[in-house]
Amino acid sequence: MSTQDFDIVIAGGGMVGTSLAVALQPLGYRIAVVEPVARSAEAQPSFDERSTALSRSSQRSFEAMGLWPDIVAASTPIRQVHVSDKGRFGFAHIDADEQGVEALGYVCINRVLGGVLARAFEAAPTVRFLCPARISGVSGGAENREVTVRHEDGSEETLKTRLLVAADGARSEVRSLLGISASVVDYGQTAIIGNVLTELPNNGVAYERFTEAGPIAMLPITNGRTAFVWILDSSDANDLLELDDPAFTAALNEAFGTRLGGFSRIGARAAYPLRLSRAERLTAPRAVVVGNAAHGLHPVAAQGFNLGMRDVAALVDCIADDEDPGSEALLRRYREWRRPDQEKLVDFTHGIVRLFGSKRPSIRVARNLGMLGFDFLPGVRRAFAEHTMGLKGRLPRLSRGIPIS
Ligand SMILES: Cc1cc2nc3c(=O)[nH]c(=O)nc-3n(C[C@H](O)[C@H](O)[C@H](O)COP(=O)(O)OP(=O)(O)OC[C@H]3O[C@@H](n4cnc5c(N)ncnc54)[C@H](O)[C@@H]3O)c2cc1C
Repeated sequence: MSTQDFDIVIAGGGMVGTSLAVALQPLGYRIAVVEPVARSAEAQPSFDERSTALSRSSQRSFEAMGLWPDIVAASTPIRQVHVSDKGRFGFAHIDADEQGVEALGYVCINRVLGGVLARAFEAAPTVRFLCPARISGVSGGAENREVTVRHEDGSEETLKTRLLVAADGARSEVRSLLGISASVVDYGQTAIIGNVLTELPNNGVAYERFTEAGPIAMLPITNGRTAFVWILDSSDANDLLELDDPAFTAALNEAFGTRLGGFSRIGARAAYPLRLSRAERLTAPRAVVVGNAAHGLHPVAAQGFNLGMRDVAALVDCIADDEDPGSEALLRRYREWRRPDQEKLVDFTHGIVRLFGSKRPSIRVARNLGMLGFDFLPGVRRAFAEHTMGLKGRLPRLSRGIPIS
């Protein structure tokens, strides 16, 4: 079996793994990315038909990486966020003008983002892309890691690396191969996604509507269409997925209400069972866990990828400031830096799921009063907006829009 030397091997060529490989380019390291599913494949689990709301800090990272002009050309700005509870008083409202920014975030279709990242990636001279291939074994630790890669035709090769990055998603096999366990909470819920044409223009407003059956997010996208994420108990979601397009569209319209008028011309629907997963550790000798492999969040607050991009930005910062990309000192700096932000976001997201999922009258009253107070107190609203824009805490260079050199 042949052995090849690399500085950094990234397991997973999804949204986070590919972004990391592109962001590391200016440092000139020899990088390998191992990915089992081709980007063009229908079944690609990361670059699919979902839409991602990109936060300001993700925007700044892509600006510093030189990719923002291509991403923004295919994205829709969010000028307002409107959160409400169907049939109850109280709603929360965040406005880009009030925050003094052009947009609170931008909505980009994952497949489009994947295309931009792939072009940057293919142009990178120091990246080797092994696809379709998966990591089937990991050994070593102190000086380097040896990684066994199995290609689709059954052949194997060994990669020797100074740093192994697990960016292979919430069910990360590489995390397990590194001996890092993860805690998992199954929400018993499923997200149904798709997009519709709306009778009234969305005017750059992102809506989050909490209903008896579960939250519905409506995100503005291009061509007068609006992307939806409808979260339901899995048994209800399965019933809805059985409906034909007109019946499903009518059910969605009925649940969301009339703020965007009638819905029509629904696109393809897809379903995602929802779980919270959390790696018990972020590092092992010569290895680090990032993105969904470190924290798989409920999508209610649209933060999973944005949090993963902050992992990318911090890891690139640490690597840029160290001679050895996998030293123990670097890994310690990384985990001490990232844990607080990750824990805050996990608690925040889990808290929203619990609060809005509750049918207890006392909690419903409290949360509606909370939403009223939230909207009347600009200071509270600003702090919340800064969190969702990813601008709280000590920010790495990329998250501040500063290129790495
Ligand atoms: C319905 C929904 C809506 C969402 N909306 C938003 C949003 O608006 N904003 C936001 O910030 N986040 C959002 N998210 C979260 C976001 O999609 C994820 O956080 C993001 O995809 C994580 O990227 P990742 O690269 O870490 O993992 P993944 O996207 O899971 O990619 C992992 C990659 O690793 C590959 N892989 C798997 N096994 C192996 C292996 N053994 N070896 C090598 N590679 C492997 C996979 O093929 C895949 O390409 C949403 C999620 C859902 C479900």
